[in-house]
Amino acid sequence: MKITMIGTGYVGLVSGACFSEFGFDVTCVDVDAAKIARLEKGEIPIYEPGLDDLVARGVSAGRLDFTTNLEDSVQNADVVFIAVGTPSRRGDGEADLRYVHAAARQIANAMRPGTVIAIKSTVVVGTCREVQRIVAEERPGVDFSIASNPEFLREGSAVEDFMRPDRVICGVADERGEETMRRLYRPLNLRETPMVITTLENAELAKYAANAFLAMKVTFINEVANLCEAVGGDVQVIASAIGLDKRIGNKFLHAGPGFGGSCFPKDTRAYAATGRKYGRPQQLIEATIEVNESRKIDMAERILSALGPDPAGKTVAVLGIAFKPNTDDVREAPSLVIVQTLEGAGVTVRAHDPEAMGPAKELLPNVTWCDAPYETAEGADALVMLTEWNAFRALDLKRMRGLMRGDALVDLRNVYPAEDARDAGLRYFPLGKAAPS
Ligand code: NAD
Repeated sequence: MKITMIGTGYVGLVSGACFSEFGFDVTCVDVDAAKIARLEKGEIPIYEPGLDDLVARGVSAGRLDFTTNLEDSVQNADVVFIAVGTPSRRGDGEADLRYVHAAARQIANAMRPGTVIAIKSTVVVGTCREVQRIVAEERPGVDFSIASNPEFLREGSAVEDFMRPDRVICGVADERGEETMRRLYRPLNLRETPMVITTLENAELAKYAANAFLAMKVTFINEVANLCEAVGGDVQVIASAIGLDKRIGNKFLHAGPGFGGSCFPKDTRAYAATGRKYGRPQQLIEATIEVNESRKIDMAERILSALGPDPAGKTVAVLGIAFKPNTDDVREAPSLVIVQTLEGAGVTVRAHDPEAMGPAKELLPNVTWCDAPYETAEGADALVMLTEWNAFRALDLKRMRGLMRGDALVDLRNVYPAEDARDAGLRYFPLGKAAPS
């Protein structure tokens, strides 16, 4: 079976490489010629653990290639995946489907009869039917099938997630669509991955409901953290205690600076917009979005208050810019709002991130970028732990303190034990628990 993947970003590249590992012939297409040129040279344009080996293996086996020529590759494909971006539309938060619609038109004009078009991009309910209508309008009378196959991989563990998913969800509209999706994911059956075969609409909605729920869970524990601070509780103890309840589960219960990234912010906005559009407001998610927005500002204010009554002119060292470890993705990372708010208060920001400095430089042009954590601490009045990369988990805090001008450690990920900070001569500001006296 020949697969064409339209869109070679985090999802398209990882899915394409994984399908080629299963033994399918895969062509990854992108309009970004520079991205395709890098891939053709064997360079991986994103940071994702394990992806380089997988791509190299697929290419050398002759099962994976890259092109900007959508028409040629679609003409030869049995299945065409749409994995293009679906960003937030400015103003109303609805998903911007223009890339999906454009890809649908291009596919329609190039496909051969019998093609299955599967939408992997996260799209609001009704989009698959709309794509079906667009394709039928472009190529009247040509037989094709449509499927919805939302992707649940997480950046930072994308290859592992694709290969070992909790479940695969496929929305189908006919037998060919169903049979094709079953064949594509058959290699996973060795480990008995549950497959939910359902309608197009259910599959589309399931993706948003999953992300909305997870974003709400993160936001919930962040609010519990706020309460812990006020009443002398410890959010990490509360999270363990409630997470042991199987109905709740222990994932996504880490207090932090708010959710970010390329999915939760835009998907919660799109989900809430869908609720409003159909007259069924999703109030929990509306509140989740609002609480999360204010959390980022709250984090910046905590850092400012750790700097003392007159923060202007002081320097903050930030460790971690990516929205989570093991990715170079900075889209809607809480760090962006936090750093900009600090800068707005007259603070100078020095920062380091193992992988995300390249993408962040354009967005945060006033930051002094440093090559390593210790260099970042030099002359800083406060040190802020913003993304819990492994490389930041066992720093020599005494050495950090020695390099700093001030003595505040604002740990927005609760990485360090309070005693270690105190022994290093640092004033410690954790999340969701009382700072030690
Ligand atoms: P991305 O921005 O990294 O990649 C999208 C790619 O599509 C870009 O390289 C762009 O140049 C290309 N593209 C756009 N229009 C094109 C066209 N007509 N032809 C060929 N290429 C085209 O986006 P992403 O993070 O991979 O996300 C893609 C979709 O998957 C989104 O809907 C997203 O919500 C969803 N998703 C993302 C993740 C994630 O962790 N990133 C996880 C699950 C689902």
